[in-house]
Amino acid sequence: MSPDPRKWRPQTVAAQAAGAQDQQTGGVVPPIHLATTFERGRDYALAANAESYRRDFNPTVRDAETVITALEGGQATLAFSSGMAAISAVMRAAGGPIALQTGTYYGTSVAGAFHAERGLKVVGFDPSDLTTLDDVLGQTRSALVHIETPSNPFLSVVDIEDAARRAHAAGALLSVDSTTATPAIQQPLSRGADLVIHSATKALSGHSDVMAGTVTARDTALPIWQTLTRMRAIEGAVLSPFDAFLLTRGMRTLHLRAAEMNRSALHIAHVLETHPSVTRVRYPGLPDHPAHQVAVSQMEGGFGSLLSFEVDGGAQAALQVCARLELIKRATSLGGVESLIEHRHSIEPAFTGVPEGLLRLSVGIEAVEDLVADLTAAL
Ligand SMILES: *Cc1c(COP(=O)(O)O)cnc(C)c1O
Repeated sequence: MSPDPRKWRPQTVAAQAAGAQDQQTGGVVPPIHLATTFERGRDYALAANAESYRRDFNPTVRDAETVITALEGGQATLAFSSGMAAISAVMRAAGGPIALQTGTYYGTSVAGAFHAERGLKVVGFDPSDLTTLDDVLGQTRSALVHIETPSNPFLSVVDIEDAARRAHAAGALLSVDSTTATPAIQQPLSRGADLVIHSATKALSGHSDVMAGTVTARDTALPIWQTLTRMRAIEGAVLSPFDAFLLTRGMRTLHLRAAEMNRSALHIAHVLETHPSVTRVRYPGLPDHPAHQVAVSQMEGGFGSLLSFEVDGGAQAALQVCARLELIKRATSLGGVESLIEHRHSIEPAFTGVPEGLLRLSVGIEAVEDLVADLTAAL
């Protein structure tokens, strides 16, 4: 009896890489396929399930895509060479104006501005008030609405169902950057989104040693999916097989890592909330988060491993706290097994509005007592 991964629960799909293994030897881990070209038969036909060239087809990349498709409950996934390659492809494939959430991951804001300089119409809306999205949809015939929830580094939470309803009523598609949540706790396609995007560089791969991006479709019959598929093949922003292998390997432990990281992040958020040197904590799991109820309804089993807090005393005080940390590393990125902290005000230009005293913390899988001790000593 051969197993049917479509009947498995998500943890099982992830742990067993959706059933992938080495067909030739029975090896329980599938090999890394590096070939760039595939031989044709004497009849000049390609092997079944193969294409002629790696830009169009790679079995190791397909293994990673299959797992993500199952975890997101979609119909298909395209893996790109980075999260930004995936997001840029979606923006350019939209085929019309884009309503773009303000205060997203800085790279996404930069990409929106970059493509706008080259003729794409990109209009911002405020994620804390979706009537501003209606205004944008009323003013421009948007082809795509793009949201990021929870957002990085503001931890804004957008009601995915509500955004999908508003987008669809105006004839637009909804894409959701779900990087900071992971499919372990949030599945945007089940709430009406058309595309879900990940920087798989982050928690999906989980070990700060892979760069990858993915787009998963609710419905592969959507014209945008055909465009995205052609765009990746034509432009070649494909994932390398080594990165795809590590991504699949990392996802085997996604649910374990996410559960531990999310639990520790909630604990740390509570500790920071009552600390006298901390003026504000942004975390969707805290009852005083402005969209806590939305987070409760659309995130299951946790609120993510990313949080931001503001230190009393502005940039200088925040940088001093960073400098005193012994365990938590001062580095960009998030979602890895090791905890990372970043002073975003030192990184982003002033117009993004990141408060000077804000520190973004990505909580890893270390003992939470060690993380709390490091933070409280530094504060
Ligand atoms: C890091 C990140 C990206 C960009 O992904 P890369 O893999 O670094 O290109 C996009 N969105 C979010 C929310 C991110 O955190």
